[in-house]
Amino acid sequence: MIKFDKVSKIYKDDYIALEDINLEIKAGEFVSIVGASGAGKSTILKMIYAEESPTAGQVFFAEKPLDSISRRHISEHRRNIGTVFQDFKLLNKKTAFENVAYALEVCGVSKEEILEDVPQILEIVGLGGRQDKFPHELSGGEQQRVAMARALIHKPLVIIADEPTGNLDPVSSLEIMQLLLKINKLGTTVILASHDKDIVNKAAKRVIVLEKGRIVCDDEKGKYKIC
Ligand code: ADP
Repeated sequence: MIKFDKVSKIYKDDYIALEDINLEIKAGEFVSIVGASGAGKSTILKMIYAEESPTAGQVFFAEKPLDSISRRHISEHRRNIGTVFQDFKLLNKKTAFENVAYALEVCGVSKEEILEDVPQILEIVGLGGRQDKFPHELSGGEQQRVAMARALIHKPLVIIADEPTGNLDPVSSLEIMQLLLKINKLGTTVILASHDKDIVNKAAKRVIVLEKGRIVCDDEKGKYKIC
């Protein structure tokens, strides 16, 4: 589904963020990308989202090269991908329900469909009884669940999660990881960037270790370790 073919990324001032990355991610996989801060994890996710482009090499999504994608097709491409970030990015003046509903409203989805789909997705992420709460009335873990519901509402093929547990305590982090695993079991490809050893190891899924922009380890049933 996703392929990086000899991808390098050099930011301005000749800073090499990624170097010769070869990577294939199949539909339905759960992949953790780990490494120290600055290793290049976010740059990989941004390339999948077509937010950054390679300096050399090519990124393919569903066998199509992303470098030839037109502006019009970028939004189409991005509809395949749900995004989750460390800082939740919720609208503070909207309830959990409204935060998720808004993602549908901006796409012109009917009120009836919104009333049917939003409670369903909030139930899946474990917020069934809390849909009328505002972000400040929810714990960090619950806010991240709202963000995950919003990411899932368009039924994306892929979820990319950039340090989704970065602001959470260990218990909430584990719950969010379990939720990502559940979403993966329901059929969505999950690509996680994290430096949280514990949660990545508990997942016992494929782990790709980045070091200074290079893949130093790609382990099927991985552990976050030095290879
Ligand atoms: P990670 O997600 O592993 O922390 P990033 O992919 O964010 O790493 O960044 C990799 C390296 O590229 C870092 O050293 C970072 O400072 C640099 N970098 C990231 N984005 C930019 C940018 N827009 N301009 C210049 N340098 C950048």
